Amino acid sequence: MSIDTERIDTVETPRRIAFIGSECYPFVKTGGLGDVMYALPRALTRSGCSVRVLLPNYACIPQKFKEQMAYRGSFMMDLCQDGTSFYVGIMESELDGVIYDFIDNREFFDWGNPYTGLWEDIPKYCYFSKAALAVLNYLDWTPDVIHCHDWQAGLVPVYLRTRFADTPVGRAASILTIHNLRFQGICSIDHLKYWTGLPDYLFDYAVFKQSENEANMFKGGLAYADRVTTVSATYAQEIQTDFYGEGLNGHLSYHRAKLYGIVNGIDVELWNSKTDALLEKQYDVSDVLEGKRANKLALQERLGLEQDENKFVIGLISRLTDQKGLDLVNAVFQDMLDEDTQIVILGTGDPRYEDSFRYYESVNKGSVCAYIQYNESLAHMIYAGSDALMVPSLFEPCGLTQLIAMRYGTVPIVRETGGLKDTVAPYYDDKGNGFTFDRYEAGLLLDAVKRARTLYTGSRALWDNMVVRDMEKDVSWENSAKQYIELYDFIAPKA
Ligand code: ADP
Repeated sequence: MSIDTERIDTVETPRRIAFIGSECYPFVKTGGLGDVMYALPRALTRSGCSVRVLLPNYACIPQKFKEQMAYRGSFMMDLCQDGTSFYVGIMESELDGVIYDFIDNREFFDWGNPYTGLWEDIPKYCYFSKAALAVLNYLDWTPDVIHCHDWQAGLVPVYLRTRFADTPVGRAASILTIHNLRFQGICSIDHLKYWTGLPDYLFDYAVFKQSENEANMFKGGLAYADRVTTVSATYAQEIQTDFYGEGLNGHLSYHRAKLYGIVNGIDVELWNSKTDALLEKQYDVSDVLEGKRANKLALQERLGLEQDENKFVIGLISRLTDQKGLDLVNAVFQDMLDEDTQIVILGTGDPRYEDSFRYYESVNKGSVCAYIQYNESLAHMIYAGSDALMVPSLFEPCGLTQLIAMRYGTVPIVRETGGLKDTVAPYYDDKGNGFTFDRYEAGLLLDAVKRARTLYTGSRALWDNMVVRDMEKDVSWENSAKQYIELYDFIAPKA
């Protein structure tokens, strides 16, 4: 479904939007969800919306942020089938016009980074979803739209139309955004029934029931949300197919009339090579070639690679999981390298990939660096100092690394799936933004890398034109935020 962005300027009343999700930069981030929970509320605030973000007050949130929080109140809330009640505290802080309410409960949020394992995470996010709605009532702040994110907030649309239907917050409309369908919050029906305390009729195939004995939190949320969005138009189509649907393709096809794809942006203030203090040299489009040269030399020095501005440096910044196409990278790793190429990997995850990349570093000293860590500042240096960034994902709902790369004048090499397909136009005849391949085959990744290197080494002027095109591409949130506001306006209760 498409959204009429023209209508947006006619919205007169600023909307009140509550964001509910499990992570948000700079407090806690493990991936793209954290970026979106940070950047979209800020973009909406700039457009005149009033936004509150509700998050768990995890123990792993750094102390400097905890010190900025103020106590806003507390109450007891019943949760489980047997009516067990739990403490709900509210700690609040404000950052650039966005209000953050952290839900406090040490029983649930003192463990994990922030996730633990499904057995513990299911009760944790049952509590969180219900507490978030109770907090909105407690604060007497009734949103027009509650924007929920991923399975961890999947229960919110269900609670909203059941337990909270006759309370003030019950007037709000709900949107559930799928950032990654692979994670769904699946457990036994008994476990979910116990923790949610929700009535039996919801444990039906149309809502939570997934198989004879299993319930699925995301599935219930998708059924009950007024609208479902996902983070690119292509992924919105893909998830209705067997291959990408993660078992929910039938459910999503059934609900397709309320399914929209709105591509993510990035926060262009946070990701700004002109002001980025983590870089060796700041640059913009006017001095990008000089800037990238200086940053490449600094990156090579920092990572113990041979310092040579003419090397073709390929970066990879990623969670090291099957989703990210790393088996393709492994299969052709040595073939991608030649005497003019260096590869830099930053990521953590599956030990299988951590070990194989460490191995490739050990046998290619000076040409390969595998930095097996989560490291925000090194990520900035890699975005700026690499010539190309590889994103060969098996599936990619939107993908942010290719957007950040382009913003830093780094050419993406991507598989044509999900948001990668929607944001990277393939290079052809001095047009396009990067190098792409379609089928999930290692040989095609290798071919794309070779095409990129051939242009870089053989036709540098054409390469440089692409660097400038990528830097000038609009990857900001503004256009996407407009589409969200249009959607909010469409579903919000009319006065
Ligand atoms: P996903 O959400 O599937 O992990 P995205 O491309 O949407 O992938 O978002 C990844 C985000 O996490 C980007 O901001 C990227 O820079 C960051 N990131 C991923 N791995 C690391 C790492 N090891 N160190 C620092 N930042 C990382």
